[in-house]
Amino acid sequence: MELRDTFDRRIDYIRVSVTDRCNLRCVYCVPDGAPPRCLKPSPPLAAEKLIAFLKVAKRYGLRKVRLTGGEPLLRKDITRIVRAIKDIGVEDLGLTTNGQLLPLFARRLKRAGLDRVNISLDSLRPERYRRITGGGCLRNVYRAIESACGAGLAPVKVNVVLIRGINDDEIGEFAAIALERDWHIRFIELMPVRGKPMPAGRGFSSLDGMRVTADEAKKSICDAVGRLVPIGRSGSSDNYRFWAGGAGVIGFISPMSHHFCDSCNRLRITAAGKIRPCLFSDCELDLNAVSNENEMERLLLASVRGKAKGSLLKKAVPCEAMSLIGG
Ligand code: SAM
Repeated sequence: MELRDTFDRRIDYIRVSVTDRCNLRCVYCVPDGAPPRCLKPSPPLAAEKLIAFLKVAKRYGLRKVRLTGGEPLLRKDITRIVRAIKDIGVEDLGLTTNGQLLPLFARRLKRAGLDRVNISLDSLRPERYRRITGGGCLRNVYRAIESACGAGLAPVKVNVVLIRGINDDEIGEFAAIALERDWHIRFIELMPVRGKPMPAGRGFSSLDGMRVTADEAKKSICDAVGRLVPIGRSGSSDNYRFWAGGAGVIGFISPMSHHFCDSCNRLRITAAGKIRPCLFSDCELDLNAVSNENEMERLLLASVRGKAKGSLLKKAVPCEAMSLIGG
C-alpha cells in the first residue's frame, strides 16, 4: 500500500522533531535573543505514540524517517527511539544534529540502527561559529564529524545556512572541503521562520534581506573554486561535483528561490506531537488526541489529504521556531 496525496505525490518520508529543547541558539532559529527554548520546553510526544504512528505509516509505504529538533541528542530516550524505528523496518533513518554531543552518541546510535547524520555547521571560524550559534564550540563539530565517519554514519552531510554579511565570505572555503573529503556540503537558503510574533523591528525581520540564493552561492563557487557539474537531485538537495574531481558532493537546498513542492514526499511531526503536512502550513493535526491504530490511520490519511499543492511560503509564515517544527 502506498500513500498518494491529492496531487499524486507519493508520501513516504516523515520528519520528526523529537524535542524543541536545544543546547544552541542559532540566530536564524531562535532569533533576537529570545530565551533558549529549553527554559520552557513543550512536553515531548511520548516515544510509544510516535512509534505506533510510524508503524501505521509503514503499512502505507513509509520508507524514510529523519529525527531532528531542537537538538535530538538532548532527548534521553533517543537511542531507544532509533532502535524502535529501525525495528519497524524503516529503510532510511537519519538524524540532524548540531554535533555538540555526537561523539558521545555516534557508535551507539549506529548500533541501534541509525543510517546517517546531517551536521549543522555555519562557519569554519571558531569565534564566528560561537556567535552564530549562541555559544557553540567549533572543535566539537569537527569531533562530531570524525565520530560520525568513524562509526560508519555515512555519508556525512554538512548543512550550511548562508547569511549575507555573516558567513557568505566562507562559501568557497566550505565548497573546497568537497575537493578533499567525501562529505556532502549543502548550502541552505535562509527561510523566514521566527520564534514568536515580535514587536515591529525585532525578530526575524532583522535577518530579512540577508538571504543568499542557491544561484548566487553556485556562482561564487564556480568563480572562486572551480566549475561544478550537476549529478542530480537527492531529496530537496540539488547536487553537484567539481568538474575537476574531488571526493565530496556540493548540494544546494533552495526552498525560497526554487521551491521543491512538486516533488515533496514528506510529512512532519512537531515536538509537541502535531502532524504538519507542510513546513509552511499552520494546519496541524494532533497526534496526542488519538490513542488507537484506527484513529492514527485516519489522522495519517487526513494529513496527507491536507497537503497543499505548494507555494504556501508565499501566503503564510510559520509563527513557531524551527526547533519546534523540526528543521
Ligand atoms: N539542532 C539540530 C541542528 O542544529 O542541526 C537540528 C535542528 S535544526 C532546526 C535543523 C536544520 O534546520 C539545521 O540544519 C538548521 O541549519 C536548519 N534551519 C533552522 N532554521 C533555519 C532557517 N531559518 N532557514 C534555513 N535553515 C534553517
